[in-house]
Amino acid sequence: DAVETAPAIVVGSGYGGAVAALRLGQAGIRTLVLEMGRLWNTAGGDDKVFCSTSAPDQRSMWFRTRTEAPLAAFLWLDVVNKDISPYPGVLDRVHYDNMSVYVGRGVGGGSLVNGGMAVTPLKSYFTEQFPTVDADEMYGTYYPRARAMLGVNTIDPAWFESTEWYRFARTSRKAAGNAGLKTTFVPNVYDFGYMQQEAAGTATKSALAGEVIYGNNHGKRSLDKTYWAAALGTGNVTIHTMEKVRSLSRAGDGSYVLTADRIDDTGAVVETKQYGCTYLFLGGGSLGTTELLVRARDIGTLPDLNAAVGAGWGTNGNTMLGRANHIWDTVGAGEATMPVMGIDDWANTDNPVFAEIAPLPMGFEHWISLYLAITKNPERASFTYDSASGKVKLDWSAAQSAVSVGMAKKLFDRINLANATIYRYDLFGPTSKVFADDFTYHPLGGCVLGRATDDYGRVKGYDRLYVTDGSLVPGNIGVNPFVTITALAERTMARVLVEDTAP
Ligand code: FAD
Repeated sequence: DAVETAPAIVVGSGYGGAVAALRLGQAGIRTLVLEMGRLWNTAGGDDKVFCSTSAPDQRSMWFRTRTEAPLAAFLWLDVVNKDISPYPGVLDRVHYDNMSVYVGRGVGGGSLVNGGMAVTPLKSYFTEQFPTVDADEMYGTYYPRARAMLGVNTIDPAWFESTEWYRFARTSRKAAGNAGLKTTFVPNVYDFGYMQQEAAGTATKSALAGEVIYGNNHGKRSLDKTYWAAALGTGNVTIHTMEKVRSLSRAGDGSYVLTADRIDDTGAVVETKQYGCTYLFLGGGSLGTTELLVRARDIGTLPDLNAAVGAGWGTNGNTMLGRANHIWDTVGAGEATMPVMGIDDWANTDNPVFAEIAPLPMGFEHWISLYLAITKNPERASFTYDSASGKVKLDWSAAQSAVSVGMAKKLFDRINLANATIYRYDLFGPTSKVFADDFTYHPLGGCVLGRATDDYGRVKGYDRLYVTDGSLVPGNIGVNPFVTITALAERTMARVLVEDTAP
């Protein structure tokens, strides 16, 4: 087969891939991007690009016959999930033995499905996790650059206090306050000016119409509207969608060779393509990038990758849970889908937790406070290649999840005690489960900065091969991760374009 070549190839179009492509394009380097998901720009029969969470259709999930929403039940009934026909939908849930991982599929990666929370971690914790990175430079240059490019904004506090759409957050704030806990506003990439127009009835509702995990039709500054628009605007960047990179190797002249399967809407492989490039940037996310590199090392196509490839993976300590409020502590029938507040108990050295106050929009009053707790779980797991099945496996155990649950429970037991409230037992399946301990939204690690790569994401053992995504983060960052992933990618690109690509 003919090999299509480009000076630079970027695999994946999430945060890490977007930063790499924009900065390469601006430097005048012709760049080809390979993304396994769709470009989400075409409306379906309902005139909408994305489907809603309440009436999911084929657009919701990546080749499924039934949706797999994080909250599987309500009052123990399987009312949340719906049968759908297989299609390259926008949200995927990747299953490993004891952990499943939610990821976005499409141009924009996780930015298409996430809650938009744009949080910069505490500088002290960043330093703890990245001891070899100059934190002053990160906080002085790269975090601000990332926030500006991503379109981060904050909710008007007066509107927050008055709107019904955030009653749920105020109720959770009150419960936390009763336990002596501190809450803090968190920035977001959703346009709060647009949200206020939604509330006023002058704009089509998106965050106020339950849209989030299956995509937002309006209001959200996902990467296709920020980094990708700018990258394509350079005229040097081309994106191929519905092409999944399957393997990586190196040719005799030192260039990289990629094999990619092009799929159709049924998932059938319609073409297998060969690509070649001088510079290869991996932005497939913690799972996508790590799987490609582990496989390449273990089947021997990139044998010089070191033992740190595949290691150092964590869930960012994610645990989801719900509390039942008293009947007088209502959460409101309508909830905005973009979280804007967190309970910040990270400074508690006995039990550091940052808990996002999460929405649960059901269209009726349900008295539930939902949370996504980010705990300082020190447990890490590794990916390995299983030659028998040809699959990459993850050795995360249930006991490792139990560490996150224990930490979340400590914090929320305090809140329940102070408020004389209890947990909800009916949200996560038929087994009266209180803590969702079997999924994460924040896969981090697998190719950790300074271990699998040098301090700038250059993969050890190979030149002109880079990792720019969440695989670089060592398993935990204490807050929602995409601003950190973006800022680290900006730092890598600033260095690499100066040092590695001189003509
Ligand atoms: P991704 O964004 O995952 O992008 C990787 C891309 O590469 C994907 O498009 C994928 O399809 C593609 N790809 C992978 N492998 C291949 C391959 N072999 N060939 C071709 N393409 C490939 N974070 C926050 O900071 N704030 C939040 O509020 C927040 N909420 C979240 C809510 C949900 C429901 C989810 C799922 C995540 C949330 N996150 C949030 C996490 C955040 O979205 C991720 O941390 C972030 O997207 C990771 O960025 P990345 O660049 O590492 O990879």
